[in-house]
Amino acid sequence: MTAQIIDGKAFAATVRAQVAEQVTRLKADHDITPGLAVVLVGEDPASQVYVRSKGKMTTEVGMASFEHKLDVDTSEEELLALIEKLNNDPAVHGILVQLPLPSHMNSDLVINAINPAKDADGFHISNVGLLGTGQKSMVPCTPLGCLMMLRDHHGSLSGMNAVVLGRSNIVGKPMAQLLLGDSCTVTIAHSRTKDLPDVVRGADIVVAAVGRPQMVPGDWIKPGATVIDVGINRIDKPEGGTRLVGDVDFDSCAAVAGAITPVPGGVGPMTIACLLANTLTACCRANGLPEPEGLTA
Ligand code: NAP
Repeated sequence: MTAQIIDGKAFAATVRAQVAEQVTRLKADHDITPGLAVVLVGEDPASQVYVRSKGKMTTEVGMASFEHKLDVDTSEEELLALIEKLNNDPAVHGILVQLPLPSHMNSDLVINAINPAKDADGFHISNVGLLGTGQKSMVPCTPLGCLMMLRDHHGSLSGMNAVVLGRSNIVGKPMAQLLLGDSCTVTIAHSRTKDLPDVVRGADIVVAAVGRPQMVPGDWIKPGATVIDVGINRIDKPEGGTRLVGDVDFDSCAAVAGAITPVPGGVGPMTIACLLANTLTACCRANGLPEPEGLTA
């Protein structure tokens, strides 16, 4: 079997186009422009690239983009004061504080200072609780993107066996909650899981988020299963230079799976598309308008 490739890049473009259409409608019908504020503290090169690309895509869909770049030695109090200002700014519907924060800041404290209704990343403890209890919440962008691709590919996920590899707060745990919400039978595996290959072999859906390059080989995959590869790892090429790979061994898994996301071009592009979708959802909720269909869990 050769797996169907789930093209996250193309799917993300479709999501962004849907968001752009809704933004145009909000402006025309209600004179409302959704706004996303992104806060970056320090000069981490990867974070700078992410923030730049988020700002560009925000304006491309017609939203207002507010970028706040703070010095690495900004105090926690100053950052909290900025968040309070953004919480109270009616032009801002989504707030994202780029992680990781410098070590002198308490990330939990900072994230929990964001108004949960504007929490575009879905990391606020209230949103974690709402998601865990099956209530309307802001949903973390990466798992939301994975869910959208799975729903698009399968239609209903009800009754499917899903294995989520990884139990982080930003990917593994919310992913498991979303799959449970769609009536999958969910197993969360991690570094202490026994007989991991056998656990993965029982899965109709495998979501790999371990941060270990090409860890999952094809002989762990049930024939026909759907493999969603969240991993982004840079490895050396034999001929020199580096390349990006995921957490699954693409070639051997693609030979067995029914469908698979590539790296790059799979989950990655969906994450920013879902950030924009979340900002739109937050804007609609803030204004008492119906939420856009198909853009949240
Ligand atoms: P993380 O916080 O480091 O969590 C990794 C998880 O994998 C942990 O739960 C860990 O188990 C588990 N794990 C590690 N080694 C394992 C092993 N040998 N067997 C089984 N489980 C193992 O990572 P993360 O933030 O969730 O990110 C995971 C990957 O996704 C990374 O490659 C990251 O770059 C990527 N990512 C991509 C996007 C995107 O937009 N595409 C977004 C976020 C993250 P323990 O808990 O037992 O230690």
